[in-house]
Amino acid sequence: MRLKDKVALITGAGSGIGRQSAILFAKEGAAVLAVDVNDQAAAETAALVRKEGGRAVACHADVSKSVDCQRMVAAAEKEFGKLNVLFNNAGIMHAKDDDAVHTEESVWDITLDVNAKGVFLGCKYGIPALRHAGGGSIVNTASFVARMGAATPQVAYTASKGAVLALTRELAVVHARENIRVNALSPGPLRTELLMSFLNTEEKKQRRLVHVPMGRFGEAHEIAQAALWLASDESSYVTGTEFLVDGGLTAAYVTPE
Ligand code: NAD
Repeated sequence: MRLKDKVALITGAGSGIGRQSAILFAKEGAAVLAVDVNDQAAAETAALVRKEGGRAVACHADVSKSVDCQRMVAAAEKEFGKLNVLFNNAGIMHAKDDDAVHTEESVWDITLDVNAKGVFLGCKYGIPALRHAGGGSIVNTASFVARMGAATPQVAYTASKGAVLALTRELAVVHARENIRVNALSPGPLRTELLMSFLNTEEKKQRRLVHVPMGRFGEAHEIAQAALWLASDESSYVTGTEFLVDGGLTAAYVTPE
């Protein structure tokens, strides 16, 4: 069991990567606080974990709100006695996110609030809890778009993920001697609700797949496996890095036909 006796807090646990990670982390021995702004989805994830014999409790939080983030960390400590793994994974992709000229300020604000400030707030309240437990692992979900420009723009989303990478590096350096590791996880395009509702026609999906050497979307459970490694002690000498799990996308200049 790779997370035996660990307590993990996962945000965005109601769907996609977060849900698959909750299930996998629990199978590997962790007690999981399944956090989401969508209460029903979080409860379903916790129920799925328990059905398979794992330990999980659902918790409501909007990660863009300070008071909610404070509460979720307190809930992990109250329910399970400590916090060892903080997976800041919740994120949004706004349907009206576009280029700089066409993106409304409100779309920029909400995207940065959830995707970037949400990670900051998770760390702000989570780090004292990790210290209390003698250290731990923070995994922040970024994206391949933090590295690659696209002609089909989503400037707010892209900027928010760039912020996650920068924040991750600095926190890793600041907390390295406290036995707290901080890493980013950058998925490629995945077959989850977030991207499929954005690429909402077959043509848009195929347009995106042109860039993926493997020629398919990734699956949430494949990202969960990478998150598990970063969360576990197997990655004990890894901090401040970015783990790209993208089907070869960022390595490609031209992809196979
Ligand atoms: P998803 O939409 O399937 O799940 C995201 C979950 O986050 C949902 O349950 C949603 O309710 C929750 N959420 C949204 N806003 C929240 C908030 N303010 N507070 C708490 N929870 C909130 O998406 P996913 O594909 O599993 O994405 C998870 C992470 O992976 C996100 O950070 C996303 O940006 C990133 N990512 C996804 C892809 C992709 O192609 N799907 C690629 C790269 C990175």
